[in-house]
Amino acid sequence: MKRQYTHKQLATLDHQVLWHPFTQMKEWVEEDPIIIERGKGSYLIDTQGRRYMDGTSSIWVNIHGHQHPKIDKAIRRQLKHVAHTTMLGLSNPPAIQLAKKLIDLSPPGLSRVFYSDDGSTAVEVALKMAIQYWAQVKPAQPQKRTFIHLSQAYHGDTVGGMSLSGVELFHKPFYAVLFQAHEVPSPHCYRCPLELTYPSCQIDCLSPLEDLLRRNHEEIAGIIIEPMVQAVAGIIPSPSGYLKRIRGLCTKFNVLLIADEVATGFGRTGRMFACEHEDVTPDLMAISKGLTGGYMPLAATLTNEKIYQAFLGDYHEWKTFFHGHSYTGNPLGCAAALANLEIFEEEHVLGKLKKKIKLLSALLKDMKKEALIGDIRQCGFMVGIELVKDTKTKNPFPLTERMGYRVAKECQKRGLLIRPIGNVLVLLPPFSVTTKELKEMVKILQRSIREIH
Ligand SMILES: *Cc1c(COP(=O)(O)O)cnc(C)c1O
Repeated sequence: MKRQYTHKQLATLDHQVLWHPFTQMKEWVEEDPIIIERGKGSYLIDTQGRRYMDGTSSIWVNIHGHQHPKIDKAIRRQLKHVAHTTMLGLSNPPAIQLAKKLIDLSPPGLSRVFYSDDGSTAVEVALKMAIQYWAQVKPAQPQKRTFIHLSQAYHGDTVGGMSLSGVELFHKPFYAVLFQAHEVPSPHCYRCPLELTYPSCQIDCLSPLEDLLRRNHEEIAGIIIEPMVQAVAGIIPSPSGYLKRIRGLCTKFNVLLIADEVATGFGRTGRMFACEHEDVTPDLMAISKGLTGGYMPLAATLTNEKIYQAFLGDYHEWKTFFHGHSYTGNPLGCAAALANLEIFEEEHVLGKLKKKIKLLSALLKDMKKEALIGDIRQCGFMVGIELVKDTKTKNPFPLTERMGYRVAKECQKRGLLIRPIGNVLVLLPPFSVTTKELKEMVKILQRSIREIH
């Protein structure tokens, strides 16, 4: 295909007509943008022919690398049949087959799949299901309609997701229109609010949650958590045993456990789903990012038979879940997702990943002594490197110094794309990364931090 626009023309047009997400556009229009034209494996190639390693997996979605022949082929094959049909009153083969696969792979007890388009909508669906469930279950408990979330949580940018997130920087302008929820402290071991250390702390940060549940469980519909690791918070892994204790509290106080596996699902933590690390089955589970291997926007909310049954009744009882999106169960997306899951099996992805996770740990260990590095946090193939002003006092850099951003710019010059979160450098390589590429990524990070120092 002949390229119609030069880089310069595209850059000018971008600056004229686009509004980028999470981007200060005043600054954006002053810089020459990187415009990605192609991708292959772990690499992205821009309109000027420069090659970059994809250190964010294209914002946490790409698992098997770009242009994986099997997913490419699955989408082409589906295109020969149909690109989209509605799930409202109709079904389609890829959506059915994918639902079956997801249930087989997900924690035992989850038996129903409800599709949507992205992580935020998958969370919204879970919240609406939880509220309607309590209104319709026998005996009904319609007063159970508030939620608990952790501090620093992130569950998406829609109103429900924002209401249950703890990222003040992102959501403050909307506080007046968000719904009320309970916030409890997150298990942040590097900056423990209780100044305790694991394991002697016995996960005492769970006490406020337990107290809240004891007092208020009759009005609480559910608790939402990012199992094993709070990702957007800066890759904050929870101590071993935390998730299981949460599950126990939910069962004890009769509140639903909503697992937001949008970031952690599909192998990112080393297991297919993060809940598996502690043998936990949530009542509702939201999945999206890795679902199609980074090819198509698709999400799902999984739940169990008990919740599903509460929505059954005669038509005129109006127990139906009146929720859906135009692209719910999109056949192209489902075909891509099916191919994604086949690759996991056929290419033994999780087995190979285990070795890469170990290698990554070893590489990171060597970095611990570097200046500016306060904490290196890893959960499977997710890494957060927190830069601090003083490694002894853990004194943080003010956000206005933009340390993460400055290091990311240095990485970019050296051919690695990462997207920092405040002072935390975040590395989430595709699982298909070669050991050579992985070593190169860590080396570039290390050199870039030194450069800024
Ligand atoms: C990314 C993310 C979301 C939101 O997903 P989108 O696809 O961006 O809407 C929700 N929860 C978690 C844990 C996420 O990481």
